[in-house]
Amino acid sequence: MVKCRLCNKKAIVRLRYARRDLCKDHFIEFIERRFEKIIVERKLLRGIRKVIVAVSGGKDSITLLHMLHRISKKLGFEIYGLTIDLGIDLNSSYSKKSVEAAVKNFEMLNINYKVVNIKKKYGFTIDDVARYGRKAGIRKPVCSICGTVKRYVMNKFATEIKADAIATGHNLDDTLHYVFSSIYSGRWEDLKKYALVTPSKYKLISRIKPLAYISEKETLLYVLLKETPFNHEVCPHTVTRRFHMRIRKMINEFEEEYPGSKITLARTFLEKIQPALSTYYPEEEKEIRECEICNMPTTGKVCAFCKIRLAMEKVLKYGES
Ligand code: SF4
Ligand code: ZN
Ligand code: ZN
Repeated sequence: MVKCRLCNKKAIVRLRYARRDLCKDHFIEFIERRFEKIIVERKLLRGIRKVIVAVSGGKDSITLLHMLHRISKKLGFEIYGLTIDLGIDLNSSYSKKSVEAAVKNFEMLNINYKVVNIKKKYGFTIDDVARYGRKAGIRKPVCSICGTVKRYVMNKFATEIKADAIATGHNLDDTLHYVFSSIYSGRWEDLKKYALVTPSKYKLISRIKPLAYISEKETLLYVLLKETPFNHEVCPHTVTRRFHMRIRKMINEFEEEYPGSKITLARTFLEKIQPALSTYYPEEEKEIRECEICNMPTTGKVCAFCKIRLAMEKVLKYGES
């Protein structure tokens, strides 16, 4: 039996990058301390008093919620939970299960929260977009529309409650996947945008990625060992592209051969390359104004979200294109 490096109990995990075999309790303690160290060293919550945690109900956002909650009193910030009911069903009740898991965790931790049901509030669901989007003249893939919807709802809620930042559950694997696929396709503007901290600008509230150095294996193990509810299912709209799977596999093979390489790569990107890209290629100064319909920030007359909402309203009401 392999023993925990810190006690005599049976080790349940080997963290090769940290050269440690750990038992359940010491793994939880190790990962929580690492998270706290990242927050403090990278100054992710500097000057932040009120933070929204966007919880989808999956392993990453539930981990994020628990870890931020644990240090909130010590570091002096307040947490608000937000979960968005996207209306994704497709015979899997995906959104229902996700929202239920999020709410259970908010209540367990006694955190103030809000559930935004996009069907009730805006009249359409993501399933509607998948089904009627083309008819409505929407050319972008459903996940791209879903991303716009989530960012809009998060930012609107953050503005309403005067939050200083929105924390999202992007993990280490998401970060590296994003970086490699952006490099592969030459989307360097996207690389420039992927930061640990995206500062507030006008009515766009700051976004932070506190899990960017914690792997998906670690977040999964964390929620399983804490025995906290989470939705383990995958969204039915997920498109599993072989190419993207291959990128993830390549990153994991590299880690297998050179333990710690994932963290090193993420650090190199987030702390050296991304800041350099932002310095040498500053944002084009686009005029930001208020959307004529919803007053949220946009560069055009009407924001991207309102365009989607209007197109969906038309197609769902009249069946027109
Ligand atoms: Fe939205 Fe796509 Fe994620 Fe499903 S997989 S939640 S549709 S972004
Ligand atoms: Zn131990
Ligand atoms: Zn708008």
